Amino acid sequence: MKVGSDHNNIHRKVTEKELSTWLKQNVIPHVENRRIWAFYGDLGAGKTTLIKTLCALLGIDKNEVNSPTFALVNTYCTNEREIHHFDFYRIEDEEEAYDIGYDEYFYGTGLCLIEWPEKIESLLPEDTVKVKISPDEDSDCRHYEIQYE
Ligand code: ATP
Ligand code: MG
Repeated sequence: MKVGSDHNNIHRKVTEKELSTWLKQNVIPHVENRRIWAFYGDLGAGKTTLIKTLCALLGIDKNEVNSPTFALVNTYCTNEREIHHFDFYRIEDEEEAYDIGYDEYFYGTGLCLIEWPEKIESLLPEDTVKVKISPDEDSDCRHYEIQYE
């Protein structure tokens, strides 16, 4: 982390049902203009669920939002913007991100939502919003920790 940089943090335990309202009221207002979002969490943590909820708030049909399987990226379009949904789980080498021209996306104009960002950590722009998702031991909800500069 850069010395003197402003590091902000949002931390909250949220059920799946509460996700949309929480994002709308307590997250999006703080990070609305950020283009790159990285979603960290183990298999089944809730990365795709969070991305679906976010996309729904931006006007994309939830059924349209699915983790890319054969390709590394799916693109959804609203009237206002393009949303690029990445899943790097299967890549073995950062070279594969170069092959799809990751920089055109990361340094373009659309919103980039990234599952398994740890696979391409060194390629993430500095102002990436980092969302860490972990399970709760006692109840059916998730802990969300969001870091942004
Ligand atoms: P993968 O690494 O396999 O892509 P993922 O992190 O994308 O997994 P999801 O597919 O989004 O995980 O979610 C896995 C399960 O967790 C789903 O059954 C979903 O309903 C549930 N889930 C997601 N968010 C929450 C939440 N906040 N509270 C309770 N359950 C949740
Ligand atoms: Mg997923």
